[in-house]
Amino acid sequence: MEQKDSDIRADKAFLATASHEIRTPLNGILGMVSLLLETNLEPAQREYAETIRQSGSRLLDLLNNVLDYARMDAGGLEIETSVFSPDLLAREVVELLSPRAHSKDIDIAVRTAASAPRKVRAGAGRIRQVLFNLIGNAIKFTDQGGVLVDVASSYGEITYTITDTGPGIAPEDRERLFEAFRQSSAADAQKDGGVGLGLAIVSRLIEALGGQIYITGSPGCGTAFHVTFPVEEDANALAPANDALSGRILITGLAPGTALSASSDLISSGCAVVSEDPRNAGKIGRLSTILAGASLPTEDLQHLVGIAPTIVVLRPEDRGQLDDYMQMGCAGWLVRPLRPQSLIERVRLV
Ligand code: ADP
Repeated sequence: MEQKDSDIRADKAFLATASHEIRTPLNGILGMVSLLLETNLEPAQREYAETIRQSGSRLLDLLNNVLDYARMDAGGLEIETSVFSPDLLAREVVELLSPRAHSKDIDIAVRTAASAPRKVRAGAGRIRQVLFNLIGNAIKFTDQGGVLVDVASSYGEITYTITDTGPGIAPEDRERLFEAFRQSSAADAQKDGGVGLGLAIVSRLIEALGGQIYITGSPGCGTAFHVTFPVEEDANALAPANDALSGRILITGLAPGTALSASSDLISSGCAVVSEDPRNAGKIGRLSTILAGASLPTEDLQHLVGIAPTIVVLRPEDRGQLDDYMQMGCAGWLVRPLRPQSLIERVRLV
């Protein structure tokens, strides 16, 4: 028998209220467990308390998703527009999520087309929510390689492409993943305790924003989510700052996403960029600067610092080893994910 519209609305309102009410005691439990974890505990007790904390925060994520989903259906979606930088918005989300990527030892980077507008007007808060979900999923399902977020624009539109080197999604599964409670495989429910609401929320948000989403990639080779939103270009946006640099820069030992992001920023500011194995760095002509990954073997880094001023790129978590790199003769350092402004300033300085 068909459920009446009014019944469905009542169900959704009930769901929204119930999930909201469950959050209060759950926050109490999580708060107390955090306090407990700050006390002196036996190793086994610590492990039990840590498990309560992890399961509790998954439950909280889940409730937040259910609440979002039920609210969207019950009351429609409000879109508040504001002026923002499409590049900075993606970088903010990536910086927030990068500790998750780094703890799995995968790379994460943002690459922005030189032609992307500096400022646009659109529903920034909702677009942030979409990016948060898609980039979070890309990190969750990728165990090797990395995630690259591309920012591009064409007239009146911004496109974000989130590419990962994870398991990929079969073409026949793509459409149904946007329905609530759908997953590619039962095993995916085990990952981070997801229930298949994230993409359903994303698809509603995109609809409300007047945008579009589609998936490409292939099983075994990774996935790319392409999302496009209409935007108003901001007539008062400042002209691009004059970042002009010059010189020939070698990029070596960086994960592919970070290398692509750095070369794009360096080329847009006027440098020539070469990419080569560190051992061949002495044979490729004059270099003004070298950008080298901190994971390179020590002998390779020592070889590089003898050729040109070398900037080492490391994870924020590895800042503790900075002294070692400076003693090796490195001329400077940068942390991942790279910020274009810091990259350009550092290259100018060395
Ligand atoms: P959840 O992550 O909570 O399971 P989502 O709605 O966000 O729910 O995703 C639904 C399903 O889509 C996931 O369970 C997974 O099977 C698939 N999926 C989403 N993003 C990716 C990705 N980047 N790579 C591979 N599979 C994905």
